[in-house]
Amino acid sequence: MSKSGRNYYDILGVSKSASAGEIKKAYRKLAAKYHPDRNKESNAEEKFKEVGEAYEVLSDSNKRQMYDQYGEAGVSGSSGPRGGSATTGDWSQYSQVFDMGDMSNLFGGMFGDLFGTGSSMGGRRRSQRINESEPGEDREVTIKIKFETANNGGDVTVEYDRYGVCKPCKGTGSLSQKTTTCSKCNGSGYVHYQQATPLGSFMYQSPCPTCNGSGKTITDPCPHCKTTGRVAEKMHLDIKIPQGAYNDLTLKFRGGGNIGKHNGEAGDLYITLSVPNFKTYRREREILYGELELHPVKAVLGSDVVIETPYGDIKVMIPAGTQPGDTITVRQAGAYKLGTSIKGDMKLFVKIVIPKKLSRTERQDWEELRKNVV
Ligand SMILES: [Zn+2]
Ligand SMILES: [Zn+2]
Repeated sequence: MSKSGRNYYDILGVSKSASAGEIKKAYRKLAAKYHPDRNKESNAEEKFKEVGEAYEVLSDSNKRQMYDQYGEAGVSGSSGPRGGSATTGDWSQYSQVFDMGDMSNLFGGMFGDLFGTGSSMGGRRRSQRINESEPGEDREVTIKIKFETANNGGDVTVEYDRYGVCKPCKGTGSLSQKTTTCSKCNGSGYVHYQQATPLGSFMYQSPCPTCNGSGKTITDPCPHCKTTGRVAEKMHLDIKIPQGAYNDLTLKFRGGGNIGKHNGEAGDLYITLSVPNFKTYRREREILYGELELHPVKAVLGSDVVIETPYGDIKVMIPAGTQPGDTITVRQAGAYKLGTSIKGDMKLFVKIVIPKKLSRTERQDWEELRKNVV
């Protein structure tokens, strides 16, 4: 299951089908048993950490699902599943890549009309090539957006630099879009040379340095792109952030990266989102984690409290007898699940705040209570 041979279910001593309640119960029992303050055995601290790690994953339905599917790698964040292919770069550093589809129509279309090829262009750009083309590199951009924009989805304009098609030569590197046979190698693409060694004279063959082995040289070399067929350009790209987007999510736009040399296929564009937390809540996918500070009287007697959610303030009923460390789950008060309108839950960790200063009447009230405490 996990790469180190540990199994989170075994650690907690529960079955793979255990309910959330069973997992919580098992965790509490083991955490109490191995708590380093109480357990003086040499391996207690290690066990305590292990139990905590297992619980952190199995208590979170998302992480548990990932763990069931991919093992420890699925929840470690660095090598989880992702949408992008890694053919042109190593994107495994991203926790998740959201594929936004093929953008080459959009990017290519910017020049399509100019060259009279606009409507006939489907999918990848099919442009004139008189020279060996090379695939373009991927581009990577990080943008900062507000929590609300990420969670609700929205339009943002992204500015970045990339290599685009050189217009004067239409990406061919030649102003007349023509080539001639290389005079250095007579079109063979190879040159031969002789080298004298102590053992005698040898003939060597190597790719022609003038035409890089293509056998052709560009006529009317384009001065704008130095015959590469591409020039640096500033992009202003309007993108739609998917609903439920979160911090560190990477959006992949196929064809949005650098155009290759000589009309080579464009690389991809990766836009990583930098998103702040909502208020003091910590977000994990669609779950919002927060703290709820309660006056002891409210914890003992139960109470309605008002909490802030991304959708406005709401009233939450705190049951009588709420304990410090309890988790109050507020259904559908979390963030949106990525790419959907489904709201996750909010989980509030209860802290009981003992008043430090009491007014005269408050003191009398507490003194009154004391009479009944044995
Ligand atoms: Zn040559
Ligand atoms: Zn050019």
